[in-house]
Amino acid sequence: MDNATRYHFSDFTLSEYDLLIKKAKEDYIFRSFHDFGKDERFILWRHDVDFSMHAARNLAQIEHQNGVKSTFFILPHSEYYNLFEKEITDLVKEIIALGHEIGLHFDSHYYGINNEKDLNKYLLQEKRWLEEIFKIDIKVFSFHVTTPFTMTCEAWTYAGLINTYASYFKENVEYCSDSHGRWRFKRLKELLAEASAPCLHILTHPEWWQQEPMSPWQKIDRCVSLRAEKNREFYKAALVKLNTPNIDW
Ligand SMILES: [Zn+2]
Repeated sequence: MDNATRYHFSDFTLSEYDLLIKKAKEDYIFRSFHDFGKDERFILWRHDVDFSMHAARNLAQIEHQNGVKSTFFILPHSEYYNLFEKEITDLVKEIIALGHEIGLHFDSHYYGINNEKDLNKYLLQEKRWLEEIFKIDIKVFSFHVTTPFTMTCEAWTYAGLINTYASYFKENVEYCSDSHGRWRFKRLKELLAEASAPCLHILTHPEWWQQEPMSPWQKIDRCVSLRAEKNREFYKAALVKLNTPNIDW
């Protein structure tokens, strides 16, 4: 079996995404992590934005067109985008303006955290950063790439923020994720077609959802190349503005 078939490359397009949202709406109520009824057939739909805010905005638009809201967890320590860069700040604001919620995607590796005291301290610090930049309340967080320590963090909240990996969610809500550009458990399409789970926690990473079917590596490679190209053009345009030559060998 080739990889395109084995890993369902054609599942991960924007048109397929639109169909998934439409199907989910038929059987579930879209709720947020801090506002759901335990007896409802709710769906908690979240995005961990690891690579691309542009891709995040694309999903935000599709969801908005379908009249649903999700939570975008943004990563201050991303190696692939910079929240303080004008273009990225504006994209986050656009996602907020579409009615979605912003959560903190927290990288414990950055600080080498291995105890709750440090976890609370740095969560609070990063929550404040996001609240300052975007003038919003941050109520929820998700861990970026878990560690043996963060795997044990199952309390409902830390630093006053709801933990998406709290034991309540792990024990009571069926989970589906597209980590690394493939379905980790069931295909989402099948899970929604069955609609047998009373409630769902869906994690989709925006970078995996593109116009046409591509391999996961192609998507990352393209994302990195586009950013590099943008930086080159930015430098050249700045020199033109300054009427200064671009000196090369
Ligand atoms: Zn992540």
